Amino acid sequence: MVAIFVVLFGLAFGSFLNVCVARLPRHESIVRPGSRCPSCGTAIRAFDNLPLLSWAVLRGRCRACGWRIPWRYPAIEFATATLFLLCYLRFGLSVVGVDMAVLCFLLLGLAVMDTETLRLPDAFTLPGIALGVVYAGLFPAATIGAHFLDAVSAALWAGLAALLIMIIRWIYYFARHEEGMGMGDAKLLAMIAAWLGPSLTLLTLVLGVVAAAILGLVMIAVGPHRGGGRKARLPFGAFLCAAAIYAIFAGQPIVDWYARFFR
Ligand SMILES: [Zn+2]
Repeated sequence: MVAIFVVLFGLAFGSFLNVCVARLPRHESIVRPGSRCPSCGTAIRAFDNLPLLSWAVLRGRCRACGWRIPWRYPAIEFATATLFLLCYLRFGLSVVGVDMAVLCFLLLGLAVMDTETLRLPDAFTLPGIALGVVYAGLFPAATIGAHFLDAVSAALWAGLAALLIMIIRWIYYFARHEEGMGMGDAKLLAMIAAWLGPSLTLLTLVLGVVAAAILGLVMIAVGPHRGGGRKARLPFGAFLCAAAIYAIFAGQPIVDWYARFFR
């Protein structure tokens, strides 16, 4: 019964996330105007705005003009509901469960925006950092990592994570004379650190860099004439988001395994 509510909740938030993803990179308000078709501008009625269901009923087309609704819309709704359900199954109906659902929501939105626009809007990362710090202050014992996180340490880890990305960025710049990571990536890792603490954040960074490097090599092999090559820009932030989601659900055993070598 609770699981059904969690899924419905996830679908509703997924629907809202679609609005954020479509509007935030263009600096538009996420409140006004209400949902409308990006093609013909017709306001979408509440009945046609139900997550997944309406998309299926309308067979993926706008009722007014027949514009094909990108599969991203139902995909984000489905993904949000799945992540919320995973949080519930893994952490229960608890402070940590709600907390990780919020973080998954932010990470999913940032991953999609970075993939589509190569931007990680401050409208997600900065409130994300603040929420992580406030949460750590309110519920210092309820963290998924082994580390105790209070507001001060959450802010400290966030700052160190941003600094770490800046250092990597400078090294990369001196080595390649081009921008590897952006300021958005620094704020993103700071957000992850404020919620997950140091060990899971380091794991996220390592997994993200390895995954991005593998795809980078594939792109070079594919060659510039087929959309690859050395100059192809990778959405590094999206890799960090995916790695962070992995770290939330499966990271602690890896961290524990690694820590054994130092005992
Ligand atoms: Zn339309």
